[in-house]
Amino acid sequence: MELKQLYREIVNEHNLHPVHKGKMENPDLVLRGVNPSCGDDITLQLKVKDGIIEDVMYDGSGCAISQASVDMMADQIIGKTKEDAIKMAGNFVGMIKGEVTDEESIEALDEAAALQDVAHMPARVKCAVLGWHTMQEILEHPEKSQS
Ligand code: ZN
Repeated sequence: MELKQLYREIVNEHNLHPVHKGKMENPDLVLRGVNPSCGDDITLQLKVKDGIIEDVMYDGSGCAISQASVDMMADQIIGKTKEDAIKMAGNFVGMIKGEVTDEESIEALDEAAALQDVAHMPARVKCAVLGWHTMQEILEHPEKSQS
């Protein structure tokens, strides 16, 4: 399958059948992330216990790339430590900006690596990184939580 087609199908799949969209009961951390240039607006909700991310959900709306990206991110970070999730966010943002290109880092992103092509679409970079940025922000600054 052609890479562009694969990328489109993964994005479509996460838009049509989001796994982590909705409202969480009693989240530990809540942070809204907004990308005004596109209109993407998400509220990220996390359950964190003993430094492990136990659950992730998001609410809100936005373009296909922003929504697919946050849904994939949730898949990737559930079960990970806070430190690993923050590191993955760094790799993802680096990949989207075209700064991280080594195979190992990109493979570790699993499905989210499908968004690598966004690196060639400057207008969509903020859409793709919104969920990851929001996650990194709330893990590094839990005092900003709106829960
Ligand atoms: Zn967008």
